[in-house]
Amino acid sequence: MKIYHTTQGLRKKLDQLPATSSIGFVPTMGALHQGHVSLVKTALKENSQVVVSIFVNPTQFDNATDLQKYPRTIEEDASLLEKTSSHIIVFAPTPAEIYGNNIVSKAYNFDGLENEMEGKHREGHFDGVGTVLNHLFRIVTPAKAYFGEKDFQQLQIVRSLVKIEKLPVQIVGCPILREKSGLAMSSRNARLTNVQRREAAFIFKTLTTIKENFNHKSIPALTRMAEEAFRKNPHLRLEYFEIAHANTLKTAKRKQKNAPYRAFVAAFSGEVRLIDNMALT
Ligand code: AMP
Repeated sequence: MKIYHTTQGLRKKLDQLPATSSIGFVPTMGALHQGHVSLVKTALKENSQVVVSIFVNPTQFDNATDLQKYPRTIEEDASLLEKTSSHIIVFAPTPAEIYGNNIVSKAYNFDGLENEMEGKHREGHFDGVGTVLNHLFRIVTPAKAYFGEKDFQQLQIVRSLVKIEKLPVQIVGCPILREKSGLAMSSRNARLTNVQRREAAFIFKTLTTIKENFNHKSIPALTRMAEEAFRKNPHLRLEYFEIAHANTLKTAKRKQKNAPYRAFVAAFSGEVRLIDNMALT
């Protein structure tokens, strides 16, 4: 499988495609797993050409250790993609290729979406995400781009980004792939010990319990219930649990009829930060 490391090389390849081609794009940070593959498979069904980018974007990390320890497994990634389809184009640029010698992000206003949950706990994260995707969308020129609901806040922010930047790309949200235990697949799971991995399924179990109780309890009571459950669990340190409106991502105080709600969790297992979420309605 050929991996393109430069914009020029990638563009040359894409410019040779038939004019009728539709490009489906799956941006990733690599250390690929079946969750990524599910996005790629959806993209393969809906487009004549699929591009997968592998780029650990420095501007979206607020923590230097997390950036440094982020798993980088380009050879395994390429072979997993090759097994999925030999026609995938892989773009794995260097930071200099994307940012030149000025690795900074643009300041975005995503209508408040960027100030909730992940935005409160990871300073500048969504400016970094917006900046890199704006670059990548302009390089790859996809008709459709695929994002996992695993990063639900990111998905909503990307929808906002393409409006702000007036990018002609359709954003497609894809369901969360989970391990048998319920643990959401994540590149960061590779950093967990076997015990931590087993215990991390508690996040999914708690989300499921909250969903089961959603119709019988108030939102503050459900939030207390989840927080209490995490407090009793010695294996995980809860950063936040929130029930929020799925579109505005604002914390919900009381249920409104027919409004879409989701529960969101960020928790640490050792020094590994895990996130997950679930639709409640
Ligand atoms: P990442 O490499 O973590 O930046 O993820 C790249 C894309 O894959 C993002 O759109 C993620 O939301 C998506 N993704 C990551 N994990 C999963 C999963 N378990 N199920 C579905 N999509 C996922």
